[in-house]
Amino acid sequence: MSMNNQGRPTGIGTAGTGASGSALLPDEPLLFEIGDTEHSGVDLPEVKLATDRLGGFGRNTKLDLAGLTEPEAMRHYVRLSRLNHSIDSGMYPLGSCTMKHNPRLNEKMARLPGFADIHPLQPASTVQGALELMNQLSHWLMTLTNTAAVALSPKAGAHGELLGMMAIKAAQEAKNEAHRRIVLVPESAHGTNPATAAFLGYSVKPIPARDDGTVDVQAVKDALSPDVAAIMLTNPNTCGLFEPQVIEIAQAVHDAGAFFYCDGANFNAIMGVVRPGDLGIDAMHINLHKTFSTPHGGGGPGAGPVVLSEALAPFAPVPFVRKGEKGLELVEHIEGEALGRITAFHGQMGMYVRALTYMLSHGADGLAQAAEDAVLNANYVKARLEHVFSVPFPDYPTMHEALFDDSFLKGTDVSTLDFAKALIDEGFHPMTMYFPLVVHGAMLIEPTESESKQTLDRFCDVMAELATDAKSGNAERFIAAPMKAPRRRLDETRAARQPILKWERPEDLPQAAE
Ligand SMILES: *Cc1c(COP(=O)(O)O)cnc(C)c1O
Repeated sequence: MSMNNQGRPTGIGTAGTGASGSALLPDEPLLFEIGDTEHSGVDLPEVKLATDRLGGFGRNTKLDLAGLTEPEAMRHYVRLSRLNHSIDSGMYPLGSCTMKHNPRLNEKMARLPGFADIHPLQPASTVQGALELMNQLSHWLMTLTNTAAVALSPKAGAHGELLGMMAIKAAQEAKNEAHRRIVLVPESAHGTNPATAAFLGYSVKPIPARDDGTVDVQAVKDALSPDVAAIMLTNPNTCGLFEPQVIEIAQAVHDAGAFFYCDGANFNAIMGVVRPGDLGIDAMHINLHKTFSTPHGGGGPGAGPVVLSEALAPFAPVPFVRKGEKGLELVEHIEGEALGRITAFHGQMGMYVRALTYMLSHGADGLAQAAEDAVLNANYVKARLEHVFSVPFPDYPTMHEALFDDSFLKGTDVSTLDFAKALIDEGFHPMTMYFPLVVHGAMLIEPTESESKQTLDRFCDVMAELATDAKSGNAERFIAAPMKAPRRRLDETRAARQPILKWERPEDLPQAAE
């Protein structure tokens, strides 16, 4: 491909006319292909150095950077950002991920200089407002969950899981119960649950799901023993079902001297309606970047605060905010601390501001309504599609996500993957595929509360049309999809096994490479 130095590929057609509304933009070259090393985006005067203060370590090769002006560099990144779906450009029905709208008020608050321009090493007396914000956020999280303590600092859900399980481990070591080496994980769990347990050296014992998609309390009781440290249970679970026997499970786990870790990534379905502490949980991470609308995707930033029960509160990490004699203070060391800190500094301040803004602008009643609307929307999608799709667990109403399986595609030559790819051509991000694993060819759809009925109807119309087309024998459309994306089907295995992480100038590559 040839391209001009403005970054527009030549001979490919014009970028982004948006005529069809669903096609994405054509290819975007790399920054180094747009700019060259001969030019610079800025004019710097020649500086005559009196003395070399680098002790002979000055660079003597050319600085190999693409010389671009600010608008050239900015346009490159904006064009890149338009090559993909985003929650700001369309519905993102990705199950378990809670991709909801991030209200712009959140962004406005996060940009206030008193939050955005402070430094983690500033004296506490100069950041009282930020500490107050962390204090209030902690209060909301503990109140919403009815728990005794919270650690704000983990930087993602999986990081929170690690911290919660470390607290459980520390509590058991303090009771001379380090022999507890088994963690029970239901088969419907998110992959991070068994990974967390294994990372801490536990052996993972899977708990089978019942035919109706929920966890079998008898199977939990049978698996409990003096060697079990904890159960890691998600509620609502990843089939979108509220575990009806969660209290009985918590009771059995506690009776066996073990702890109840709850994966709270699905808290969006119950916030303001159910307090997990009332169900008997001991530790639970909350994904601020899911439930509380802070942005996520593309790897971050996230925030996964962990709430802890009375029994685990003494094992919380530092730092935390406390009221001292001279106002709020950040406690960075405590006597006999079990864990120390889980991250440098204090966590993702920008996410704290966005999350608290979301909470305060909704109020307690508004949060409950958001959860109810999320559940309503998921049930609406299920009700509109259950006649054309197949529903693996029809007995229960769903919580925040609607789960379908691939049995409606039987005999069509269309797989779940093909179906999801066809959705891209219709302008929607695909749903979650092949997860949870307990369902064959799973399609997990989480609309969230932030989509209007009009958007849901358009999505359901497209889904129903696709399903009808697949069943009528038009497999070609699905197997060829996506047709309108800048990349078609990727060789994902090769991309994972042989990633090309470094760009080299074509003139530097070995000549033989043809
Ligand atoms: C997203 C998610 C996680 C992990 O959260 P990250 O912030 O991505 O690390 C864990 N469990 C469930 C059920 C999730 O949906």
